Amino acid sequence: MSNPMKFTISREVLESCLLGAQEAHPRELLFLLAGSKGKEIILADRLYLAPLAQSNEASVSFNDFNLPIAMGIVGTFHSHPTGPAIPSRADLRMFSQKGACHLIAAYPYNRADVRCFDSKGKEISFAVV
Ligand SMILES: [Zn+2]
Repeated sequence: MSNPMKFTISREVLESCLLGAQEAHPRELLFLLAGSKGKEIILADRLYLAPLAQSNEASVSFNDFNLPIAMGIVGTFHSHPTGPAIPSRADLRMFSQKGACHLIAAYPYNRADVRCFDSKGKEISFAVV
């Protein structure tokens, strides 16, 4: 028996993500979210621009072989300049490899346009702290 993880993100980090998405528009933007992971709660309170990110409207990916594990990556944030905030097949592949919680923001990138998914692509709730 395990309760679902509760994902929390600091207001500052979420606002930085949404601003970044607005500035990158109409290109897609990917950030790595870092922070701390407890037994039941994940807190994302830092973000990194994904190194060597390549993106187009259909998929987003990055080269991470230089990424230190010590960065404390807990998930990702990326934008969907077109279409709804639903994970693509490429997204699901990335989700399964990059941390526990994944935010997708659809245009126009307001708080209400953000949805959160677990590593299997199931939608989960999240809280801004
Ligand atoms: Zn996507």
